[in-house]
Parts: sequence; C-alpha cells; structure tokens
Amino acid sequence: MKKVLVTGGAGFLGSHLCEKLLNEGNEVICLDNYFTGEKKNIVHLLDNPYFELVRHDVTMPYFVEVDEIYNLACPASPIHYQYNPIKTIKTSVAGAINMLGLAKRINAKILQASTSEVYGDPQIHPQPESYWGHVNPIGNRACYDEGKRCAESLFVNYHKQNNVRIKILRIFNTYGPRMHPNDGRVVSNFIVQALQRKDITIYGDGKQTRSFQYVDDLLDGMVKLMETGDDFLGPVNVGNPGEFTMLELAEMIIKLTNSTSKLVFEPLPSDDPMQRKPDISLAKEKLNWEPKIKLEEGLIKTIDYFKAII
Ligand code: NAD
Ligand code: UDP
Repeated sequence: MKKVLVTGGAGFLGSHLCEKLLNEGNEVICLDNYFTGEKKNIVHLLDNPYFELVRHDVTMPYFVEVDEIYNLACPASPIHYQYNPIKTIKTSVAGAINMLGLAKRINAKILQASTSEVYGDPQIHPQPESYWGHVNPIGNRACYDEGKRCAESLFVNYHKQNNVRIKILRIFNTYGPRMHPNDGRVVSNFIVQALQRKDITIYGDGKQTRSFQYVDDLLDGMVKLMETGDDFLGPVNVGNPGEFTMLELAEMIIKLTNSTSKLVFEPLPSDDPMQRKPDISLAKEKLNWEPKIKLEEGLIKTIDYFKAII
C-alpha cells in the first residue's frame, strides 16, 4: 500500500484522483484550502479509514511521510485564478517550492499538474511538448500561465540540482462531473445555461477552438505518468486531440439537452487563445495512453451530473 499526498484534493480533478487512488488500494492524504474546492466533493470518502483530509494552504510548508505527491493545488478557471492574481502566483510558485522541498526531504516521487496554458496563444498547431509557447507575461492570464511555467522550471531544477524524482503533466482542458456550476469554464457554463434555458454566452465570435478531454481519460494518463520509471520526467501532454469551436460545443450541448437556449455574443477576454490541440505522440509512446471517451459521450455523463445538482 502506497501513501499518497494529493494537494488540491477537494477540487474537481483532485477529488476524482483521491477516489481513484483509494480504489487502487492506496492510502490517500487530501490537502486543500477550499478556495475553489469543496468538502462536498470528497465527503463520500471520509468513511474510508485509508483517507485523511487536511485543511492547509500550499503556500505554507507542510510535512508528512508519503511515497508520492500529486501537486494539483491551484485554481484552474480564469475567473478564479484572476480573482487574486498574486495569490495564484504564490500558490503555483511557493506551493511548488514547498512540495518539492517536501519531496526532496522524504525522497518522494512528485507529479506537477501543469497545463496547456504554458503554450499561451500558440503559433504552432497542434502543440508538441518541444514548443516553448507564446505567453504574454503581463496579461490577465499571466498569473496562471507564468506561475505554471515557473513551477515547471522549479521541478526541472529540483531534479537537476537535488535528484528529486519529478513528473510534469501538461493537462489540456478537462471536463466532467464535479465541475462547480459557477466555475466559469466553458463546458460547465454552457451546460448550466442550456439546462436552465438561459442564453448561452459565447465569448468573441465563438470560432476559437479547444480540445476537451473527459476526466477519466485524464486520470488514467496522470497515474500512468506517475508509474513511469525515474528516467522519464515529461513534460508530457495529456489531452484529447478532437478540436472544436465554441460554437460547435454550444450546438452539441443544446442538442444533447434539448434546450431552447439561444446564443448571445459577449466580448472575448484579453489574451484568450485562438486555438488549442495537443500533439499526444509522446503520451502514446511513453505512457501507452490515448483518450477513449469521445466528446459527445463525456458530455452526456456531465449533463446527467448537472441535471442532478441544479
Ligand atoms: P479546481 O479549482 O477544481 O481545483 C483546485 C483545487 O486546489 C481546489 O480544491 C482549491 O481549493 C485548491 N487550492 C487552490 N489554491 C490552494 C492553495 N493555496 N492551497 C491548497 N489548496 C489550494 O481545478 P481543477 O480543474 O481540479 O484543477 C486541478 C489542477 O489541474 C490545477 O493545478 C490546474 O491548474 C490543473 N489543470 C486543470 C485543467 C482542467 O481543465 N481542469 C487543465 C490544466 C491544468
Ligand atoms: N468561453 C465562452 N463562454 C463562456 C466561457 C468560456 O465562450 O461562458 C470561451 C473562452 O473565451 C475560451 C473557451 O471558451 O475561448 C474556453 O474557456 P475556459 O475558461 O473553459 O478555458 P481556457 O480558456 O482556460 O482554455
């Protein structure tokens, strides 16, 4: 039985990860400050004697004996990470330093939940891991993008300087049950609006693209990366290469919910990337991983979840 620390464990992805790790026979410590996460996401795990919950902020040091650390603590939705940008940077950077320091001290393996945002508004399409990205360092998204880029740099340097066993996962847009209804990300916004027969808010002309992966596919790739040998550090993209415009996504959600909602167009936020699609050749080669769940299938499961909670 491995002991695993999951930071950000009460969030959307973290709560699913805690559940998966417990189901696979591990002991799990879930650490969260509940900024965007909720106890509701993990309350069903509290009866499990191998699950522990810790209220803590990763910007402060934390000490525990574990075999593995998954570092997910960080708000992920633009409205939340832009709410207190300095705190977002501290969470990414000081949080990474604290967790890497812990990994160094206890010789744990540590995985960083990085992001496709390190590619910014990409000028190479699809994006391979070798692409250095196109990020505005002083724009509205910089607190998140540059924070995550700095965290990657910290991970690589703790490995080079201190031999810490690191893994870097570049996660592309992921959706599924337990996204917060007010999270502000596009999939949850459109589903909630469609189910409530409200206008669907398209930012810009809706021709920008994203590649959406279902949460189960992501977790499969994440755990596979953690299980790779110490010679493979990443970064590795994990995402679904299916690419959709926001107009196509809105139409699909309207159809699947039988909604009467109409589209309304609102201003495009600054620095909103125009396109995004992962090159997943490396994940296929090194992790023997590729996504299995098509967008329509994953949306149906996510719509069922939102129907039950709103
Ligand atoms: P989320 O907002 O649901 O989860 C983040 C969790 O981190 C929340 O529970 C929050 O309370 C916690 N947290 C935030 N700041 C903290 C701090 N200082 N100390 C302790 N806990 C803190 O978002 P998510 O979608 O589950 O994302 C999880 C991770 O995956 C994030 O690091 C995010 O950057 C990364 N990621 C997610 C996506 C995606 O599409 N969901 C894409 C790329 C990367
Ligand atoms: N978006 C939209 N309507 C919304 C929310 C988001 O058109 O109600 C757009 C947003 O401008 C972006 C895309 O959907 O182009 C994905 O946004 P999200 O915040 O989900 O993720 P990110 O931009 O970080 O990839």
